[in-house]
Amino acid sequence: MTSPFNYTSPTVSVEALKHSIAYKLMFIIGKDPSIATQHDWLNATLFAVRDRMVERWLRSNRAQTSQDVRQVYYLSMEFLIGRTLSNALLSMGIYDDIKQALDEMGFDLEELIGEENDPGLGNGGLGRLAACFLDSLATLALPGRGYGIRYEYGMFAQNIINGQQMESPDYWLEYGNPWEFQRHSTRYKVRFGGRLQHEGSKTRWLETEEVIALAYDQVIPGFDTDATNTLRLWGAQASNEINLGKFNQGDYFAAVEDKNHSENVSRVLYPDDSTYSGRELRLRQEYFLVSATVQDILNRHYVTHHTYENLADKIAIHLNDTHPVLSIPELMRLLIDEHKFSWEKAWETVTQVFSYTNHTLMSEALETWPVDMIGKILPRHLEIIFQINDHFLKEVAVKVPDDSGILSRVSIIDEGNGRRVRMAWLAVIASHKVNGVSALHSELMVQSLFVDFAHIYPDRFCNKTNGVTPRRWLGLANKPLSKVLDDAIGHNWRTDLSQLEELKQNIDYPSFLEALRKAKLENKKRLALYIAQKLDVVVDPKSLFDVQIKRIHEYKRQLMNVLHVITRYNRIIEDPDAGWVPRTVIFAGKAASAYYAAKQIIRLINDVAAVINEDPRVRDKLKVVFIPNYSVSLAQIIIPAADLSEQISLAGTEASGTSNMKFALNGALTIGTLDGANVEMLEHVGEENIFIFGNTTPQVEQLRRDGYNPHTYYEQDAELHQVLTQIATGVFSPNEPKRYSNLFDTLVNLGDHYQLLADYRSYVDTQDKVDELYKQPEEWTRRTLLNIANMGYFSSDRTIQEYADEIWNIKPIKL
Ligand SMILES: *Cc1c(COP(=O)(O)O)cnc(C)c1O
Repeated sequence: MTSPFNYTSPTVSVEALKHSIAYKLMFIIGKDPSIATQHDWLNATLFAVRDRMVERWLRSNRAQTSQDVRQVYYLSMEFLIGRTLSNALLSMGIYDDIKQALDEMGFDLEELIGEENDPGLGNGGLGRLAACFLDSLATLALPGRGYGIRYEYGMFAQNIINGQQMESPDYWLEYGNPWEFQRHSTRYKVRFGGRLQHEGSKTRWLETEEVIALAYDQVIPGFDTDATNTLRLWGAQASNEINLGKFNQGDYFAAVEDKNHSENVSRVLYPDDSTYSGRELRLRQEYFLVSATVQDILNRHYVTHHTYENLADKIAIHLNDTHPVLSIPELMRLLIDEHKFSWEKAWETVTQVFSYTNHTLMSEALETWPVDMIGKILPRHLEIIFQINDHFLKEVAVKVPDDSGILSRVSIIDEGNGRRVRMAWLAVIASHKVNGVSALHSELMVQSLFVDFAHIYPDRFCNKTNGVTPRRWLGLANKPLSKVLDDAIGHNWRTDLSQLEELKQNIDYPSFLEALRKAKLENKKRLALYIAQKLDVVVDPKSLFDVQIKRIHEYKRQLMNVLHVITRYNRIIEDPDAGWVPRTVIFAGKAASAYYAAKQIIRLINDVAAVINEDPRVRDKLKVVFIPNYSVSLAQIIIPAADLSEQISLAGTEASGTSNMKFALNGALTIGTLDGANVEMLEHVGEENIFIFGNTTPQVEQLRRDGYNPHTYYEQDAELHQVLTQIATGVFSPNEPKRYSNLFDTLVNLGDHYQLLADYRSYVDTQDKVDELYKQPEEWTRRTLLNIANMGYFSSDRTIQEYADEIWNIKPIKL
């Protein structure tokens, strides 16, 4: 190894980088190079890279402040940003320089990149969307920042033991977090509990418990621009190091325990996705986020404007789902109780500032809190919520006088259900815009969940179809394909994804199709290697990689995928020489720890995999793998390697999906239902280039109305009957034949809520069409090209531009 300490001049950029890395190792990490671990070198590199970003970051912040532009604050309980190093290097255009610098110091950049802990501060799609949005905001130089919680423990780590999911805590901060700046002086008191005292029109909130929210800032680089963004995450600190009262009474342990208790509020992410679990600590977390954030927003505003009068002109606050909805009563409270606003003026401000994204129409995911619980933890907020409700209901009574049931339907308080606060209702009433996340979802939103509100506020509802950042999901995740694209159309697709259209000129060039195929094969080999190393299963990179990776949830219907896998298995055994297209079926995803049915699905996948992978009659014709511990980093390895993307949720249940977009952008063909953004993908790529199957939303609803009976499908479809019988009788669980009898009952006897049996035949037949096309590699590749070329619309840059223009009313800063 050449010594980094023997440099002569740090003017050459690679030399300068070597110097900084070595400097950081010694003076920040405090280690001698001879004993430094890989992690130390990674952290030294992160510090060195961060330094180079800070200058632009400060410049961006200064420009934002001095140009006095309207800003957006994006509030989200989750940000699933993924690893930072490689993304930052690409954004700054210094990937190759760092690679060379490390190489000359005896290190492999790719290896160090793989050492970085992937911060799992989100569950899935919602958190990843927030991360793509921050990336696009920065790249478009739009003024705004993200606010979230700095959970000490992110999403649990998933291990598969004897086929079953086991959770273990993910302490992602184990090696520190060089990417963040702890802001020791940016701290706010967040209060809970206590009681109210009314004096005339004044309200005082007394005898509260207090927690300190401490700011930690992460730099979010824009791509190929000086513009950078900030993600501010709040960590909890006990407000008194120890409770002196208890300490003086001699109860040392109780005193320290208190401290731990209050810091619990930012301890761990709730691992529920698309389900609601009304636990008190979660309510505290939500309030912790919004109270610190709203105080910070007001404080930042006051520092530049010395007044709160023009607040509505200068800020937009966006709610990513209902989780941060308490920011509405929190802003009301601060304006009225602390800043002397009248109710009317405070409300006018609030309704100009807030906007809200709905992420689901499914009742099991809709957030409601018992009135009593809010009253105990946030008595003043409950009072304000009741007041908002009173004002609103009076307005409705005037607007819609002849609908007798409407008041109870639109009331924020659900009186019928043990008295609960409907958070989505509060969000709709206080926001000037409410959006869904795909055309279909936004349409259904105003027809079902918010139908009454759509009559009251016809202009409030809109659509903003989700997108993904092409920087991470193509530039970073898929180097081989990026190279092919750069050679064909230049490199500007990274910031203008519509340029992918130009690829269509190459559709008749066999050499170009060949280049696409080679890139795909290279990605498949990389994944095959990963699978061999992690799972000790050998898969053939030439087989069709059929991939379903996402949270495990009944509505996403991983189980229907399994039904197809078993069908295929049966057919291969029946007729081994029928010219099978070899397939590798790949699953990944976490189940919420308390979600029994989802965990059973994981277990079944693994049981089926064990039987099929061991069966000598099948051999290379079919392999099934469940890759544990799905995460952003894992998605970056798996998605570029996919041939077939499974997007098979029951029509009307998946709000948008975003992995559907990532896959198509990486040259996979989609097999999917007319659900979420699949509908718009179909419109963009054309029906010849996507495999659509199954019932449509109206058909699903019709079936439900007519009394859907899964048993008839079970009786009448012989293949389906066989598969379900095998599952029910223990063919895949011979040591415990009844292991899946519950699961069988859910489908056949208990109503099959997500209508797997109704869509099974159409799904299996469509899978046959996939095989037919895969037998024609040239034609298959032409269609993947048309998928890639038509994905321009699904860039999160397009999505964010629409939010900026139509919801937030913000303009780029000038740098
Ligand atoms: C994109 C992404 C998701 C969302 O996937 P869907 O299939 O749209 O639900 C979830 N988790 C991770 C890690 C992702 O990257």
